[in-house]
Amino acid sequence: MARIVVTGGAGFLGSHLADALIARGDEVVALDNLSTGTTTNIEHLFGHDRFSFVRHDVTNHIWVPGPVDTVLHFASPASPIDYLELPIQTLKVGSLGTHNALGLARAKGAKFMLASTSEVYGDPTVHPQPESYWGNVNPVGPRSVYDEAKRFAEAMTLAYHRSHGLEVRIVRIFNTFGERMRADDGRVVSNFIVQALRGEPLTIYGDGNQTRSFCYVEDEIRGFLALLDSEHTGPINIGNDGEFSMLELAEIVLEVTGSSSPVTHRPLPVDDPMQRRPDLTLARTLLGWKPTIGLREGVARTAEYFRAEIAAGRA
Ligand code: UDP
Repeated sequence: MARIVVTGGAGFLGSHLADALIARGDEVVALDNLSTGTTTNIEHLFGHDRFSFVRHDVTNHIWVPGPVDTVLHFASPASPIDYLELPIQTLKVGSLGTHNALGLARAKGAKFMLASTSEVYGDPTVHPQPESYWGNVNPVGPRSVYDEAKRFAEAMTLAYHRSHGLEVRIVRIFNTFGERMRADDGRVVSNFIVQALRGEPLTIYGDGNQTRSFCYVEDEIRGFLALLDSEHTGPINIGNDGEFSMLELAEIVLEVTGSSSPVTHRPLPVDDPMQRRPDLTLARTLLGWKPTIGLREGVARTAEYFRAEIAAGRA
């Protein structure tokens, strides 16, 4: 059994990670300032003797009493609409928050894992994206608050590894979706599913020919644990390498939900990447991990979740 601190533990990925760790017998201390996370995501864990939650903003000094084996730094707004609304907080959690989480790991002699992102590749000119690609990021555009914060976080994580000998892991997460995304999260899969279920038009930004590669949350979490338990520092891409245009995604969502919603077009956000697909060679060969749940199956499961949320008046 390990004692594991999860920053962003009440968020979409952090809460699924907490579930997976509890299920395998670990103890979880979840930290979250609830700016984009919610206790609804973890309320089923309240009262569990291996789970605790502390409302804390990790841009302030972090202290967790007792031994800590691992620190998983998953705190950050992650949806473009969230980080554009919280630009300074996003930069702070990626920089100060990462520094504090690394400091906690160092003080406790713990292993550290950073949740990085495919956004470090920006609007990529190399396709698919291997970890060796340095990216094409606009450092002063509106998305830079997320992209550059995560690039800084990777640099800081490796500086702690090189200077202090800290054992670290860096995972680059590609578009992940599933249960516990907020209905108003703003990301494309949740937007399309909720719009389809409500019979509202599906909002396609731009012409819809831009592509993304969507990973169902269960696969993604399995990938995190495979990296954490491995000997590899990373960065390692974890995602699904099936690539779809937004037009194709809209079609799949309509088909899976049986919705007859129309589609409508909205302006493409500034610096919206035109294509994105992970090169999974490292994940497959070094970790023996691969995604197993296809887009249709993942959309079907997520649609069930949102159907229940809507029926319960929560979405
Ligand atoms: N997008 C869209 N309609 C929406 C929300 C997003 O067409 O209602 C597009 C967005 O412009 C982008 C893609 O879907 O090209 C993925 O957007 P998301 O916000 O999910 O993630 P990210 O841009 O961070 O990959």
